[in-house]
Parts: sequence; C-alpha cells; structure tokens
Amino acid sequence: MAGAPEAAGGAGGEASALMRPRMLPWILLLASMCAGSSCDHAKDAAPSAAAPAAASPEAAAPALNLPPDTGPPPAIDANRAWQYVKEVVKFGERPIGSANHKKLEAYILAHLKGDEVESDSFTADTVAGKFPVDNIIAKYPGTKDGIIVIAGHYETNLPLLGTGYVGANDGGSTTAILLELANQLRGKKRDGYSVWLVWTDAEEAVRKWTDTDSLYGTKHLAARWQQDGTAQKIKAFLLTDMIGDANLNIDRDANSTPWLENVIYEAATRLGYQSHFFAREIGVEDDHKPFLKIGVPCADIIDLNYGYDNVFHHTPQDTIDKLSPKSLEIAGVVVLETVRILDRMDPLPPK
Ligand SMILES: [Zn+2]
Repeated sequence: MAGAPEAAGGAGGEASALMRPRMLPWILLLASMCAGSSCDHAKDAAPSAAAPAAASPEAAAPALNLPPDTGPPPAIDANRAWQYVKEVVKFGERPIGSANHKKLEAYILAHLKGDEVESDSFTADTVAGKFPVDNIIAKYPGTKDGIIVIAGHYETNLPLLGTGYVGANDGGSTTAILLELANQLRGKKRDGYSVWLVWTDAEEAVRKWTDTDSLYGTKHLAARWQQDGTAQKIKAFLLTDMIGDANLNIDRDANSTPWLENVIYEAATRLGYQSHFFAREIGVEDDHKPFLKIGVPCADIIDLNYGYDNVFHHTPQDTIDKLSPKSLEIAGVVVLETVRILDRMDPLPPK
C-alpha cells in the first residue's frame, strides 16, 4: 500500500476550505492500533501513517471550478436497494468459480435487461488455480464526450468458503447499490458524460492479499481499456466498497486522486451528509489501483471501519443486520451528486 501523498504548500487556500479534515487524536490512535496485528489478517487495505494536517492531500489538489448548487438533489429508492442486498445475500457464499457466483451473475444480468451490457470475461491464472472471472459493464450514454465509471465488486472471498461468509457489506452492498443506480440511470436522457456501471469480479485475494494475489478483474479490465483507448476517455472512476455499514464513516483514501476526493466531499456537503465522510484518512488498496496506475482519476468510497476496530470485515459476521438502507441511500445519492457536479465542472482538472 502507498503512504500519504506528499504535501504541496500549507493548509491554507480554497481547497482546504472546501475539505476540512478532522484529524482527531483518537483517529490517530485508531490508525496506529490498526497498523498492528489486529488488522493484518486477510486485509485488502491498511491505514497509512497518519499525516499531519499540513500534509493533507487536499492541499495538493488543484482549485476546483465548481458549478453552482442548483436543481433538485438526486434520489434513489433505498428500500429497493435494501431488497437487492437481501436477495444477493440469500445466494450465500459466492466466490469465483462457484455455482452461487454463476447464479449471482445471472441475477445481475436479469436486472439489466434492455440495457447496453458488456461482459469482460476471462480465465484468471491465480495462485490457487485457474478461475473464470466476469466483469459486468452496463452503459448509459450521455451527451458529453467522456465516461464516468461507477464500480464495485460482487464476489465474496474464496478463502472464507465453508465458513458461512455471505459478505453482506463486502460485496453485497455494492452489488445492490449499482443495481439501484442502474434503475436511476435507465431510460433517462443524460445531459452529461456517459455513465458506465461496472460490477467488478475477483477483487478479493484467493489466498492472502498481495500485489499479485488481488484485483484480478480490474487488472484485466484496466489493461483492456488502456489498449482499446477507453481509459483515455474516463473522466473519473468512482469505486464503492463496504458502503452499507449502519454506522457509515467513509474514509478519505490517501491513494485516491485528491481533487476527486474533494468533489465527493463537496457532493456530500451539498446533500448535508458530510458528517459521514472523511473523519479519518487511510491509504486503501482496492479495485481503483489498476486504473490509478494508468492515469485515470479515481476515488474509493469505502468505510473500512466495519464494527469496532473493523471486527466484522472478512468474517462470517458480515451479515445484513449490521447494515442499513439509510447508508445505502447516503452512498447512492452522494455518488449521483458527484456525477452531477462532474458533468458541469468545466474544465475538469488535468489528469
Ligand atoms: Zn473484502
């Protein structure tokens, strides 16, 4: 994992006025606790060294040319999204290569009937053998030249197979929120960039998280999109992960693109949900990494404190009773508001 980005200048200026980090002492304590053994198991992320406020990455972000806050705020049907989580969890364990995974693929595709859908299917050669992997892409065209990607993984961890692990938050919440975003995007004329929803596959390690053993699906998709020129057209890659926690605290990810994180914070603030965002800063390894590597602006919208000291993460305790429809709603509308702001930001910061 990467550490906190370098500082560029002091804490003053417009960008830091936009994004007010609250690096409270207890957060620093939490980060140092997590750096120890309690967070080492099966982790796809770990806190970076806590940066002093003056070195916060928003200081490195260019000033944003934000559009005025006008028009009705976006909405989603949180109850419908909640129903999706229930149905996804009912499939049970659904790691790559399993029959349940196949059923879930069919379930996602059935909800996208009539949409422009593409599959990025291949065989991943992993440290635990060969597995079929299938990234599912649904495209909603816009009037502006460029693409905004909203992504989240849908499979559950192979190493947890047999433990009863259903990944309600890790895998389930993102599968569901993307299905509901599809409902919101479907059949509407988009006066903005094209939006592509991507249910990513094989995000999780098949044994233990390393650079090699992780992100099989997005590594493949990033390479494909770099080759065919799609990557150049992507204005922003918005990743969602573990956004269903009833106690929703989205972390600021030090590995994400600072200006895009600032747009997310602006979107959250416009909707009155800023208290759920960025109280803590950590460096996260996740499905955005392969796209960051090829120069795509990326932001990981993730709450990596799931239960006290992240105790439910990657355990059979990741069940739906820890989640809430309100958290799905907050994540969903903040993503849509972020898209709405990006659509009208002219120009976007240079890549
Ligand atoms: Zn996970």
